[in-house]
Amino acid sequence: MGELFANVIVDISHERVDRPFQYRVPERLRERISAGSPVLIPFGAGNRLRKGYVVELTDRAEFDPARIKELSDLDENGYNAASQLISLAWWMKERYGSTMNQALKTVLPVREKIRPMEKKTIRSCLTEKERKEQLVLAEKKHYRARVRLFSALTDMEEVPYELAVRQLKLTPAALKSMEEKGWIRVERESVYRNPVKQQKEKEQKILLNGEQRKAVDAFCRDYRAGHPGIYLLHGITGSGKTEVYMEMMEEVLRDGKQVIVLIPEIALTYQTVMRFYRRFGQRVSVINSRLSKGERYDQFERARKGEIQVMIGPRSALFTPFEHLGLIVIDEEQEGAYKSELAPRYHAREAAARRAEMAGAGLVLGSATPSLESYSRAIKGEYRLLTLTERAKKDSRLAETEIVDLREELKAGNRSIFSRKLQELMDDRLKKGEQIMLFINRRGYSSFVSCRSCGEALKCPHCDVSLTYHRSGMLKCHYCGYEIPMPDRCPSCGSPYIAGFGTGTQKIEEMTRQLFPQARILRMDADTTGGKEGHEEILSAFYQGEADILVGTQMIVKGHDFPRVTLVGVLAADISLHAPDYACGERTFQILTQAAGRAGRGNAAGNVVIQTYMPEHYSIQAAARQDYEEFYEKEMAYRRMLHYPPALGLLVIQAASPKEEEVIRAGEKMRRMAEEDPAGRSGEKAPEITGPLEAPVYKVNDIYRKILYIKHENYDILLRIRKKIEELELPVMLSFDLQ
Ligand code: ADP
Ligand code: ZN
Ligand code: ZN
Repeated sequence: MGELFANVIVDISHERVDRPFQYRVPERLRERISAGSPVLIPFGAGNRLRKGYVVELTDRAEFDPARIKELSDLDENGYNAASQLISLAWWMKERYGSTMNQALKTVLPVREKIRPMEKKTIRSCLTEKERKEQLVLAEKKHYRARVRLFSALTDMEEVPYELAVRQLKLTPAALKSMEEKGWIRVERESVYRNPVKQQKEKEQKILLNGEQRKAVDAFCRDYRAGHPGIYLLHGITGSGKTEVYMEMMEEVLRDGKQVIVLIPEIALTYQTVMRFYRRFGQRVSVINSRLSKGERYDQFERARKGEIQVMIGPRSALFTPFEHLGLIVIDEEQEGAYKSELAPRYHAREAAARRAEMAGAGLVLGSATPSLESYSRAIKGEYRLLTLTERAKKDSRLAETEIVDLREELKAGNRSIFSRKLQELMDDRLKKGEQIMLFINRRGYSSFVSCRSCGEALKCPHCDVSLTYHRSGMLKCHYCGYEIPMPDRCPSCGSPYIAGFGTGTQKIEEMTRQLFPQARILRMDADTTGGKEGHEEILSAFYQGEADILVGTQMIVKGHDFPRVTLVGVLAADISLHAPDYACGERTFQILTQAAGRAGRGNAAGNVVIQTYMPEHYSIQAAARQDYEEFYEKEMAYRRMLHYPPALGLLVIQAASPKEEEVIRAGEKMRRMAEEDPAGRSGEKAPEITGPLEAPVYKVNDIYRKILYIKHENYDILLRIRKKIEELELPVMLSFDLQ
């Protein structure tokens, strides 16, 4: 056996992680050392012993082996959160294909500069009566941030300063002026050190219903027995999943352990965050992508020191350095945002499973529309399935849903974007003073072409995905490279009315105004909102009844609770069915189910109108009935038939280079390497290989890109092929995506 070397980083909080030092691993430690191991190393000229972490093991010496020092020992007492995170980084590098450096930068918070941390807390100085008066006054004047703070102070004795600024959106200036008026008091660290921070117990503790209880008990039993597993909590919208998470969290926190809650950024509204604060008070911290690196680092430091026990945030909150992690919750686990777009292209669900396993923690995935991936694992018994089938609030019912066939509307002479049914219901709701949401499903928008007469989208004859319109006037398939010139008539029915789909939110807003001039309309899409701050302003204005109709894209249907909405109109449900990728049926089902779940959250029953050119499609049918199992069966059958994940594993490799001939050569070499894999000869199936194909946009900024698709039911074989391809050391940039 050759020599083994360890790359070691010294004290992660101060050094840059991309500057590891290499040491020789002595024979006696070989068996016990791995990525993440805390070690003692002789450091510097004086060879003083210092603590470090192994980030990588290799048989390759970086310089003259004779000059490489030997590491002194394993630091058996040094295992901590950092060790686990480094070991997680190693796993991510292996699993997703990236450099160790990229993986480390993903999991370790890097300190920018040292700033003193100050903890500030806001308390009310008003009597309950005075506070109510101020609340009413603020509501009248539409001081929304102030309303939020006063209502928060009604629920809680004190509000963390950072919560007020980040989630309730009060500016420091506004807080200062309120303090000067004598309404509130901002307390600094020294005043506030009392660890007993009990919230007013006035928060009525919700009594869980039978299904919720069962779900919580299933987790608690395993947890107490010392082997919590992975759970998929499948519950329809409004079934009380959040209450279930919180009850499970309670159990873990009682035990002195810590919890990470992942929530997609778009659903991380103050409404949501406040529910956790109300229940767990000062033990909670929140991060989001608007925080600077330094601010995020501060929150992670507080977690590491044990000052907080619950971290809530998007994907990156997974790397909170808790020492005694007991539970990870991933809400809306099907969300695409849980997958990183940058190398390592990890999926938070998989990385969370890995982290939970290392920490001996439980993992709870929650969704009304679980990903196919998770549901199929649950069915196979890899995850434990927990189900909530009823709405938690007694008086809340599922909305009545109707599918409208837009081809029929055209035939009947209705050229408006609103079906007759939808117009009628909108009229009714406006008269009653109830709220309406109009939703346009705009994903994959405009790049596909469809027929207004028969509703057919132009598809690839080989791949069952929509062809994409290119400015050159060609229609292309991104999976197999098939292409045809743009026809002037529909190939199915001969109608000349074929075109790209082109109705945006702005157009819908205009048309709504024409039809209902008296209605107050708000619009929310990427253009109106000016970043995430804007989203919340619009949503909260709508929540407070400042408009009758909210028009928007998918961002309006995620995780918001509007009790006064009794009508949801989905204007073109099938747009997302034509996105050029195999998961578009799944996304359509998810988004429609979410949209339908928005109506009738309060006391009044709701209506949902789904307008579509493809009323018979199972994604639309199943969403209208809120029938997940039906959807799952059909979609899985489709994936199995066409060999798409999760029926098979799919490895996508992209090669990129400014030199076209290099990309072409690399593509061929990669393909050969995949073909040479011994799987086919050793009794296993040979991998299915497609490509190399040109990327959807072949040349970007003078960089050419080719993509190779490799499928196999055994992930290990795909990992083996990826490793082999990495080892070719091709003169191109490679990126890997394993689905
Ligand atoms: P989900 O996360 O599944 O959409 P939530 O946890 O947000 O559902 O619950 C929906 C609503 O029902 C919330 O207003 C919540 O307070 C309420 N709720 C949840 N569980 C119960 C229960 N057992 N009894 C009464 N109300 C409940
Ligand atoms: Zn047609
Ligand atoms: Zn094709």
